[in-house]
Amino acid sequence: METVKRNLEKNGFEVVVVENAAEVKAALLNEIPEGAIVGFGGSMTLQDTGIYEALTERGNKTLWHWKTEPEKRGAVCKEALFADVYLSSVNALLEDGEILNIDGNGNRVAAMFYGPKKVILVIGKNKIAKTYEEGLERIRTVACPQNARRLNRNTPCATLNRCTDCSSPDRMCTVTSLIEKKPPTMTYKIFLVNEELGY
Ligand code: SF4
Repeated sequence: METVKRNLEKNGFEVVVVENAAEVKAALLNEIPEGAIVGFGGSMTLQDTGIYEALTERGNKTLWHWKTEPEKRGAVCKEALFADVYLSSVNALLEDGEILNIDGNGNRVAAMFYGPKKVILVIGKNKIAKTYEEGLERIRTVACPQNARRLNRNTPCATLNRCTDCSSPDRMCTVTSLIEKKPPTMTYKIFLVNEELGY
C-alpha cells in the first residue's frame, strides 16, 4: 500500500489511505461540498460504501446510470461527464502508480481523463496489481467474469473465469485505458482503502 501510494504521488495524484468502507464514506461526505453535482461510474465498490444514498439524502444532485430507468441511462452518463465531482473505482491499480481500466461503453474511463471538475477514486487493496500484465489478468479473470454474471452477459468468461478475447455480442471489453500520470486539466483525489472492496 505504501509503495503504490508513493508512486501515485510521484505521478501527480493526491492520495489518502483509509482503513475501511465506513471511513471512506465519511471522508467522501466531508470531501464533496453540499450542493456539488456528483456523477458516478459503474462500481460495486461505490455501491458497497452506500455513498450514493448518503449524498442523495443530503441533497446533492447525483447522476448514476445504475440508479436510472433504462431509457434515461445514456443521458445520465453524458451529464455525469460534466459533473462537479465524478466518483469511480478502477479495475486495476498498478504498483507503479498507473490506473488500468477496461470499459464496455467507455463513459467511466472517459470521465477519468477529461470532463468533470474533480475525480475521486475509491480503490480497495484487492485492486492492486504488480504489473500491467498482472492488471490485465486480474481484470479478465476476476472483474469481468463477475460483472458478466451480475449482468447476465453471455460471454465465455462468465462460465470459464478466463478470457478468450471473445467476439460475443455481449462482450464487455471495448475500451482499455491506462492513465500514466494525473491528466493536467483534472483535479484528482484517490482514497486507498486497506480492505477488499468491489471486484
Ligand atoms: S473479451 Fe469477452 S471473454 Fe474476455 S473478458 Fe471480455 S467479455 Fe470476457
